[in-house]
Amino acid sequence: MTAASWVHDFAEGSKEQRDLLGGKGANVAEMTRILGADRVPGGFTITTDACVAYMRADRVLPDGLVEQAGAALARLEEQTGKRLGDADDPLLVSVRSGARESMPGMMDTVLNLGLTDASVEGLAARTANPRFAWDSYRRFVQMYGNVVKGVPGELIEERIAQVKRDRGVTLDTELDTDALRELVAVFKDLYRETTGEPFPQDPQQQLDGAIRAVFDSWMGDRAVHYRRINRIPDDWGTAVNVQQMVFGNKGETSCSGVAFSRDEVTGEPTPSGDFLVNAQGEDVVSGVRNTQDLAELADRIPSAHAELLEILRTLERHYGDMQDTEFTVEEGRLYMLQTRNAKRPAQAAVRFAVDAVREGLLDRPAALLTLDAAALETLLHPTFDRSADYTVLGTGVNASPGAAKGAAVFTAEEAVAAAERGEKVILVRPFTEADDVAGFHAAQGILTSEGGKASHAALVARGMGKPCVCGATALQVDLAAHVARIGDVLIQEGDLVAINGTTGEITTDDVPLVEPSQDPAMAAVLERFETILDWADELRVLGVRTNADTPEDAAKARELGAEGIGLCRTEHMFMEADRQPKMRRMIMAEDEEERRAALEELRPLQQQDFEGLFEAMTGQPVTIRLLDPPLHEFLPKKEEVGEELHEAYASKRYRRVGVLADVLERIETLSEANPMLGTRGVRLGLLYPEIFEMQAEAIFAAAKAVEERTGSAPKLEVMIPLVGYERELEIMRGFVVAVADRHQLTLGEDYVVGTMIELPRACFLADSIAHHADFFSFGTNDLTQTGLGFSRDDIEGKILARYIDFKILDRSPFETIDTPGVGQMLRMGAWLGRTTKVDLKLGVCGEHGGDPDSIAFFHDSGIDYVSCSPFRVPIARVAAAQAAV
Ligand code: ADP
Ligand code: MG
Ligand code: MG
Repeated sequence: MTAASWVHDFAEGSKEQRDLLGGKGANVAEMTRILGADRVPGGFTITTDACVAYMRADRVLPDGLVEQAGAALARLEEQTGKRLGDADDPLLVSVRSGARESMPGMMDTVLNLGLTDASVEGLAARTANPRFAWDSYRRFVQMYGNVVKGVPGELIEERIAQVKRDRGVTLDTELDTDALRELVAVFKDLYRETTGEPFPQDPQQQLDGAIRAVFDSWMGDRAVHYRRINRIPDDWGTAVNVQQMVFGNKGETSCSGVAFSRDEVTGEPTPSGDFLVNAQGEDVVSGVRNTQDLAELADRIPSAHAELLEILRTLERHYGDMQDTEFTVEEGRLYMLQTRNAKRPAQAAVRFAVDAVREGLLDRPAALLTLDAAALETLLHPTFDRSADYTVLGTGVNASPGAAKGAAVFTAEEAVAAAERGEKVILVRPFTEADDVAGFHAAQGILTSEGGKASHAALVARGMGKPCVCGATALQVDLAAHVARIGDVLIQEGDLVAINGTTGEITTDDVPLVEPSQDPAMAAVLERFETILDWADELRVLGVRTNADTPEDAAKARELGAEGIGLCRTEHMFMEADRQPKMRRMIMAEDEEERRAALEELRPLQQQDFEGLFEAMTGQPVTIRLLDPPLHEFLPKKEEVGEELHEAYASKRYRRVGVLADVLERIETLSEANPMLGTRGVRLGLLYPEIFEMQAEAIFAAAKAVEERTGSAPKLEVMIPLVGYERELEIMRGFVVAVADRHQLTLGEDYVVGTMIELPRACFLADSIAHHADFFSFGTNDLTQTGLGFSRDDIEGKILARYIDFKILDRSPFETIDTPGVGQMLRMGAWLGRTTKVDLKLGVCGEHGGDPDSIAFFHDSGIDYVSCSPFRVPIARVAAAQAAV
């Protein structure tokens, strides 16, 4: 058996190998191939497999790794003609983490490794630039101490500030060689104080320590937390990239920066980015100095700027997607250090997709695949009502689009605590760091006073689709006092703040939020979104319907492209305040006669509802589900009635006492230990046929009325819920048909009768059930509940969290369908159903109908349509198209 290959040179990898080499390593290798080895500093990648082996062995490096890394280093030394730690002309390397999916700022990187007390002198002499050599060394001692040995960042910052004060300077770049030498000594002392050891002078030991630190950072709290949120499996591991250093800190013709092939917020086709002259990469993101806009590089170092723009175009063409890159210019010479497909907010994603097709970069299917369907929902999020009266107190950088309002909080902890109490908050900070990420989740939006579009706050907010305004210079945040000030307005904790991340506006007025179509600033964005949706409609095979119970929802969904109603939950029509007493009378009825009388009062109201719905959906199918929930849900809570009874008794209102006692008794009779598995759905219909009969009556009467009024007959689909036995459906179908006959409506022409498949038994016996069904609609919420035995309403808290901790689940099965279990039952039901009726129409209603991953599964399962809530309709259209590509 040959030993595992843990190490790959950049020259041999490709972008296809991101699982093994990590995203960064795979793309550095790809760039080396397409841009040439002189554009990308050389090096090698230690694989994610090595990291996994290291973790499994409880932090022991796997056999062969040390030797293979040594050999790769020797090749790099050969290629560069320099040696690590050489006292005359040292090779310096960076040690960079890089997982399959990028985890910005979550893991660690060490720069300038290989510097020692001896080699720093060599570097100074060789480059004739002692300041540069000592600046590099102090960065290395600082980063190595912090990343590898956990020397606290605050202590490091404190020491830098101290030296700057002593020397009377404010900027890092103003520190002279002497000051930098002093800093190295200070950091070395700090290192010894923290670790009890001297700073390592053996470059091999340095390299070893850094590699382990990168592996360890995969298990660090920050990274673990980030993976939870982003559903990245813990067992992927990270790769380690060892790469020759190039230097952006060599003087005025050197710089480091980030560049996007198109504007990363709006998607406009002009490249954007930030850079810093005489600096190393970490400075750009950390925000220690104010960066310059990429456009200014054209004046500073014109040739490098021109080359960079050319490379951005090349990369974009090669990857077929918008790129997010890191670069360094060393004495005028441009090097590329990283590229990846740019994360971007929905508006930029849509713009890129449309422009890419117009420019001939991508065809429509490929362009659609660049979109994150779920993220598109943010385009429909509310925005400021421009016609409202509000005062803009200041504007910042429009770093992540969308509007948000809530109570100001100043720390991530407060944001989390407030969210747990169910409050809406805006996280207000001078700037943010990795530790604040939990607060982003809890907040509606993020507002900062410092940093630009490349700042941590902007990056993370965009990644999460949270509105963010950053770098609002008019804002002053006093963290100690827990207040902020903007102009003369004082913002205290809990005060209302509203931000518009699309425009950068900030106000403390309670601005009403409106649909984006009301906002002229959104017009162009929505127009492009329409284009995308048109393309999606051409490509998709799956139909997209909506779950709607009211004409308003139906109209909204239609506007958003729904092709019918896949689920109308009739019980919602009984919940309205003016109907409850009538409903209650029906439930309280002593006998059938009395119940029928009560139902007679409800019938015209139901009919009215249906008429509204049918008119809103003219020409499109409407699936109406007969009453599903247990009756006790329509009665008041037992405790409430009990209390009222006491009061009535105390105030001697004896008639009332009598009424309430009856209610209480009825609640008790109807109460069930397991209502979700009790008298609901078809069972309700079998126990109280008159309820279903009334509903059928209302449906058919409404259909007649609407046809008479509009000349167009609704396309009716009557659906019986919770069927498990063939005979249940046969009986219920009989009831419905009998009512339709009275209205001279013909089964199969004027209406159809089908069932909801939401019990495992129904999936297994779908062939028999199909004899009595004109269609199936998979109720995947209940099918998940009954198939997994998880109560949907109770799993979300503790159970789910625990299951995710133990890696039994990586997300809620109520969000994304459990394909091997519930999904398999669905496929069996679909297949069996069609063995009885080849053209049996199959739909899916339930939350999964709006979830892109589940939609892909439904497409593959031969489902005809999905049905989802109105606002998910556009997402489902795009996801269905992506599934068809
Ligand atoms: P992150 O994943 O946090 O972006 P990176 O590994 O990309 O970490 O490193 C951070 C920064 O360090 C990069 O943006 C780049 O500017 C700088 N850097 C990394 N490797 C090198 C190198 N070989 N030469 C010069 N700069 C480097
Ligand atoms: Mg990077
Ligand atoms: Mg159900």
